Amino acid sequence: MKLILLGAPGAGKGTVAKLLTALDGSVQISTGDILRGAVQAKTELGQEAEAFMKRGDLVPDSLIMGIMEKRLQESDCAKGFLLDGFPRTIPQAEELTQLLAKLNIKLDMAVDIDVPRDIILDRLCTRRTCENSACQAIYNVKSNPPKVEGICDKCGAKAVQREDETETAITHRLETYNEKTAPLIGFYREKGLLMSVPATSSDDVINAVKAKLNL
Ligand code: ADP
Ligand code: ZN
Repeated sequence: MKLILLGAPGAGKGTVAKLLTALDGSVQISTGDILRGAVQAKTELGQEAEAFMKRGDLVPDSLIMGIMEKRLQESDCAKGFLLDGFPRTIPQAEELTQLLAKLNIKLDMAVDIDVPRDIILDRLCTRRTCENSACQAIYNVKSNPPKVEGICDKCGAKAVQREDETETAITHRLETYNEKTAPLIGFYREKGLLMSVPATSSDDVINAVKAKLNL
């Protein structure tokens, strides 16, 4: 399947993407994971992106488009992909449309994961992420804690609160979402590609996608 996952930070795009990859071997492409990996590895890209990310600001569109143009041409994308955290702005969405046309790739749909704001806030404050860039497993101190506090079950690295998951940065990320990313819902609706799923759990989304794509 070839999907875009839309939704506020904390809506569960990453969790949904991981569950969907298990259905048909499509790959998850998370621009946030790619960028955090680059910051940790101190690559040129990481150094350019770091300050924006710490503040909870978006990284410039040109950097993101460079990443995605390369990523979408890697061979593992042939089976399908789940775009998680991209596109994030109308200019990114417009450039993606052109890029997909150039690569002769047809999207199935854009799935908007619509989660109530109080659930989002609660999730983001209690989220912990494995700091190993090759793992980046996600936990929740209330609903899905690691077996040993602060340690990733999968790889043994530290599971920590992300630097952009303090209360101020979270509020800022949600404002940025409303201003820059929420307009993509209308953008894909006009193209006839939008499926909106009111969701409080990732299962709600998986079931809706399966039904729509006859999986
Ligand atoms: P979230 O949990 O907010 O969805 P992500 O892991 O997707 O977080 O992204 C973390 C940060 O990486 C964002 O706050 C932003 O700084 C940067 N980022 C990720 N994807 C994009 C994108 N498509 N365009 C611009 N910045 C991005
Ligand atoms: Zn880990």
